[in-house]
Amino acid sequence: MENKELINRAAKLIRRHHTGDGRLHGDVGAVVVSSNGQIYEGVCVDTASWGLCAERSAIAAMITSGECRIRKVVAVWQNDKTGELHVLPPCGVCREFMRQIDGENLDAEIVLGLATSGPLRELIPEHAWPEPLA
Ligand SMILES: [Zn+2]
Repeated sequence: MENKELINRAAKLIRRHHTGDGRLHGDVGAVVVSSNGQIYEGVCVDTASWGLCAERSAIAAMITSGECRIRKVVAVWQNDKTGELHVLPPCGVCREFMRQIDGENLDAEIVLGLATSGPLRELIPEHAWPEPLA
């Protein structure tokens, strides 16, 4: 699936829900393509007790369906004033989460724009357990 198609699909997931205590759910949408080619979707959830990025929300849906390997992932935020879409790089927690779900996910393609993407391993270069000090 092309980046543009994934970006548009993630953008359609955005449904902002403002809570009474100033929190906001659903303003980032994410789409994960599993190694089997299945599509999983998620949005961000923000509460005072816990927050969940859209990527991890989509990955949780993937794991619920019995899959752990990611082929491709994209997260999108839309400026509600201008309507412009922004592809968000995954935060550090999501990067490490993807790696820990399955080591093969280091080869997952992270979409960073319409024509830009790269493997997760390039976003977390120092991920391996370190050698003991001499
Ligand atoms: Zn994140």
